[in-house]
Amino acid sequence: MKNALDIFQKITKELLEDEKKHPVAEYIPTSDLFSRLDLELTDNPISDEAFERILRDLIFASPRTATTGFFNQLFGGRNSKAILGELLSVILNNSMYTYKAAGPQIGVEKNILRTVCNMIGWDENSDGTLAPGGSMTNFMSMVMARDAASAAVRNKGLTERMVVYSSKESHYSIPKNAAFCGIGRDNVRYVSTDKEGRINVQELESAIENDIQNGLLPVLVNLTAGTTVLGAFDPIILVADICKKHKIWLHIDGAYCGSVIFSKKYKHLVQGVELVDSFSFNAHKMLSTPLSCSIIVVKNKKHLYDSFSNDANYLYQTHHDEFNLGKTSLQCGRRNDALKFWALWKSVGTTGLEDIVDHQFALADTARNYIRNHDDYTLYSYDNSVSICFNYKGIPARDICTALYEYSNLLVGYGSFRDTEFIRLVTVNASNSHEDIRHFFSTMEDFVAKSDLLQSRAVQEQVH
Ligand SMILES: *Cc1c(COP(=O)(O)O)cnc(C)c1O
Repeated sequence: MKNALDIFQKITKELLEDEKKHPVAEYIPTSDLFSRLDLELTDNPISDEAFERILRDLIFASPRTATTGFFNQLFGGRNSKAILGELLSVILNNSMYTYKAAGPQIGVEKNILRTVCNMIGWDENSDGTLAPGGSMTNFMSMVMARDAASAAVRNKGLTERMVVYSSKESHYSIPKNAAFCGIGRDNVRYVSTDKEGRINVQELESAIENDIQNGLLPVLVNLTAGTTVLGAFDPIILVADICKKHKIWLHIDGAYCGSVIFSKKYKHLVQGVELVDSFSFNAHKMLSTPLSCSIIVVKNKKHLYDSFSNDANYLYQTHHDEFNLGKTSLQCGRRNDALKFWALWKSVGTTGLEDIVDHQFALADTARNYIRNHDDYTLYSYDNSVSICFNYKGIPARDICTALYEYSNLLVGYGSFRDTEFIRLVTVNASNSHEDIRHFFSTMEDFVAKSDLLQSRAVQEQVH
């Protein structure tokens, strides 16, 4: 083990140095991948030297998601306290289903959940769990919604036609999860949004009433706190009224930006969160914690047990259910995703998490101001969002993003809203400075200036 840790130290030290000089790893076309790196699995062992060299090559060639060159998805950066927690959880290798197998780590997870529930304003009846990502915490919410609407479904399967509601801008896990739940993709109602990407509440209410009149059973409304493309926040309070009236489960998918609950300045964006049945957020997005760390909390923990508990006498042999977290989990064996988030939270305090969130919004303001002050840009997103959507010189977004990637310059993605496609810059890497954000723009501008292909695209667009 000591030797392995030495290799770990050596490779990571070199990598961190190299990342400063080369924030983006060399692009390897898929056609070259298996010849460029030694990934082959062979019958016989290899020497320690060869092993170390091959491992190093692989690590150095992998996308660098913690640098000032990565803006491609909704995570980024590297928080040292969270990394330390993650590394220690790997060494411990506890499984979070029982107190017997995870001991005090159960207390770590329980305290995260308790504190989050308290912040929302929920009482002792509330609880939660962690799952491998926001798609899966959303899935758990749909399972609970389905089971709450029909006590029989858990044993007998679906006997009624159930419907779920979500906005057109919501995450693609909603239709997937509807399929997994037996509700079916065709029974997802995609409600349209206003021009800022927020769900149209009147259309939602009409859709629900229409379905009830037609004998269908509405079971879930999914709202989004931070839509994946625009970063928009659906209004909660009005929708909570509608859901209460019709006894429909209300979930907030806060995978991207639900972490605003940690900020005094921005928690108004999820005003009314205490009224919902379940709420999820990804600490691995806005809260600088390594992938994955997705948390779901539920106002009434009875639903967690109703949907996810199962007796298993080969597993649950000691202690009360309260400390055997497998009873409220989607999984059986489960890795410890709590320690890394706890290590960060413990070290910086809740105000430290608040600073992380506020800094990301401040970086977003810097980016939007830059765009507003430069005529070559068109802005498509709104204030109070950490997604900054724009086009540059009318050049198709996908052309710029793909060229930046293939020339190992910057990793940034594109998205679309209604009929417009644009570059989506995300400012979720809290280790970035305002200067790093300005540097993003200058790097992109220099790159476009040097690219004949992109220049020609700019001219074409202007002619149109
Ligand atoms: C990222 C995201 C998800 C999915 O989370 P994963 O952890 O990637 O599974 C769900 N909903 C929204 C709004 C997201 O931005």
